[in-house]
Amino acid sequence: MENIILCHGGVGSKARSAPDMNGIAEKSWNEDPLKSVVNAVVIMEDDPQFNAGTGSVMRIDGSIQMDAAVSVPGRFGSVIGIEAVKNPVMVARDVMEKTPHIMLSGSGAVEFARRCGYMEYDPSTVKSREAYRKMIGGIRDGLTENEKYIEFQKLIREGIIDEPHDTVGAVARINGKFAAAVSTGGASPMMRGRVGDVPIPGAGIYCGQDGAVVATGIGEEIAKRILCYRIYSRIGSMPLKSIIEKEIAFFGDNLAGVIAVTVNEAAYFSNGTMGTDMFAKRLP
Ligand code: ASP
Repeated sequence: MENIILCHGGVGSKARSAPDMNGIAEKSWNEDPLKSVVNAVVIMEDDPQFNAGTGSVMRIDGSIQMDAAVSVPGRFGSVIGIEAVKNPVMVARDVMEKTPHIMLSGSGAVEFARRCGYMEYDPSTVKSREAYRKMIGGIRDGLTENEKYIEFQKLIREGIIDEPHDTVGAVARINGKFAAAVSTGGASPMMRGRVGDVPIPGAGIYCGQDGAVVATGIGEEIAKRILCYRIYSRIGSMPLKSIIEKEIAFFGDNLAGVIAVTVNEAAYFSNGTMGTDMFAKRLP
């Protein structure tokens, strides 16, 4: 059986210079599937082309709050709205491995990260600050967060500002064991405190004895459908690719994409462009 690491760079992905996703999957290889998926996500968090870690998008108030999660069968860890760290996925892994909890949010997640030794870090980049200035430039003064959100939506619909989607994720099957990891700066525009699908088990990520599934797209829609668990629960009922296609068909115009591995399959599908690739390595 082949060992597989499958990476994605977000549905609706606009990563400017077409990153070498297969190269990322290959570089992240480790005999431990959890290490492989965390390595892959760290590489993408550190690449400012992606909307995760360095280069994450700014919220309506100009802050950067990131979500990330990891899972192996029976275990899960996530961080919600974490700020001022370089690699949210590593903190999510530490939530799983070093605490009795499955999720830490906001200031509690940041405090925990500092205790684990993660230094203060500014994930904004020239590009993300410019994108924010462009976004905020089109908005009248004196609006509430909610009113600003509506204005931003209008600017996106009219094509005046871009909606970045270069969120990242990875799934792996190595020596018959599964792992999944995902990380995002969120789906712009967002109010401060908005939580998407990524840190919610079963929504943007699920990993069990039968496989690993990770999603990308409009987090609100993905979470409402508990997309990853729905796909996981249908494993074995038909080819994996057909399961994913059928589940994504429910999303209509809302962007959604999925990567998944099972005991004997690996597949991905999205209803928009999605930077995805797979590194497969045969057992010696
Ligand atoms: N699912 C992410 C979120 O809604 C964004 C994305 O995948 O593009 O936060």
